[in-house]
Amino acid sequence: MSGPRLRVGVLALQGDVREHLAVLDACGVEGFGVRRERELASVEALVIPGGESTTIDKLLRAFGLFEPLRERLRAGMPALGTCAGMILLADSIVDGTSDQQTLGGIPMTVRRNAFGRQVDSSEAEIVWRPDGTLMHATFIRAPWVEALDPAVEVLAQDDHHEGRVVAVRYGALVATAFHPELTGETRVHRLLIEIARAAT
Ligand code: GLN
Repeated sequence: MSGPRLRVGVLALQGDVREHLAVLDACGVEGFGVRRERELASVEALVIPGGESTTIDKLLRAFGLFEPLRERLRAGMPALGTCAGMILLADSIVDGTSDQQTLGGIPMTVRRNAFGRQVDSSEAEIVWRPDGTLMHATFIRAPWVEALDPAVEVLAQDDHHEGRVVAVRYGALVATAFHPELTGETRVHRLLIEIARAAT
């Protein structure tokens, strides 16, 4: 069923932008690459992709997008961050570089490259709490949630890593430590679309 046309952006400064656009397409929603302030202003929801959070942080500042994006997030724009995107949505980080900033929005602390110290990448079956079914999750030098405000809803934990929190929702913001965009998974993006439709 197609609802009213929704404009969902994918922050296109660095990272796996095409993969996110493909998932949005699979969900029946047209995605738009966002590199400039006017493009940001034209979308109703945004995906912040996986990639390298320090690079995305620097490019956000170089492109003059850091403050406008922070403002949009504060104003309640629905957003999904995966991996590096999760780091960017966290209010605070552990093991960031000395000058690394985050956009923030979710009252949690994430540890950068948390799984990376054990293995660079791994896969796991996790329970996706919104529907209680299994989800195949791919982690690539992924963060995990080290601490979170009780108001943050846990969407998934990784039982292979001491039940670490790997997916959360806080209001209109969703973040995953893993990469749903790499495995043909659509449920995470569908959640963002559902939140965005409810908001418009
Ligand atoms: N380790 C990366 C970072 O710090 C995230 C990796 C990823 O997005 N796959 O941004």
